[in-house]
Amino acid sequence: MQVGLMNNPRIDPVSEIDFFALHNFDFVDLTLEFPAAHISIIDREAVLKKIKATQLGVIGHTTYYLPFASPINSVREAAIGDVIETLRFFAEAGAKLVTVHPDPGVGPIDAQTTIGLNAMSFKIISDEARKHGLTIVVENVPGMFSNPEALKEIFNQVPELGFHLDVGHAFIGRDRFKHLLGLFKDRLLHIHLSDNRLREDDHMPLGAGNIKWEEVITSIKATGYDGTFTLEVFSVDRRYVLASRDKFLELWRT
Ligand SMILES: [Zn+2]
Repeated sequence: MQVGLMNNPRIDPVSEIDFFALHNFDFVDLTLEFPAAHISIIDREAVLKKIKATQLGVIGHTTYYLPFASPINSVREAAIGDVIETLRFFAEAGAKLVTVHPDPGVGPIDAQTTIGLNAMSFKIISDEARKHGLTIVVENVPGMFSNPEALKEIFNQVPELGFHLDVGHAFIGRDRFKHLLGLFKDRLLHIHLSDNRLREDDHMPLGAGNIKWEEVITSIKATGYDGTFTLEVFSVDRRYVLASRDKFLELWRT
């Protein structure tokens, strides 16, 4: 089992990586998105050098609002292209997994078409990712794709995709955690952890919100999962991130 953190995309990733290494995290969940961490902005050499120097592992994470289900071909192709541009970089950084986020699409387009367009986009990205030795993982997100049945259809259409379980997202609006874990435990490859008040994606420290972490960690352990966990806790005072790790490790070890 490994514990990592995600870089804040408002800050140059190089300084973030220093903090993660200083506090002995195992990996950086490297998100390449605007305003300060998009692939077109960062100093790629400096980031790669820093990762090598700190010997942190890397998991790739991409922009969460890309229009993979746009009915307009050129828009969808641009979204796909934006992810494909990052793949070589992620592979060079030592990543094996890259997260993508399904797109809820646009109003007049029906759900089946939206699911199909997401699947089509992820198939193209996944084929390209494999050339770099990378596996694409799909994250459950609030809204249409918090529904396990909608995600299941994407996985049915593109079986080589892995599942990235975001525990915080699984509790927003209603509790879908056990349903998601039950359906996709065999393709589960990465987990995000953050707390919330069950209504919005608050990204609170573990134990500060309403999620029952004892139950969550016990259920995850029961599946035999022993992979990577990212603490997606976005508190200004970083001591809450470190406290979240303490809480997680305590629960994991009992
Ligand atoms: Zn997440």
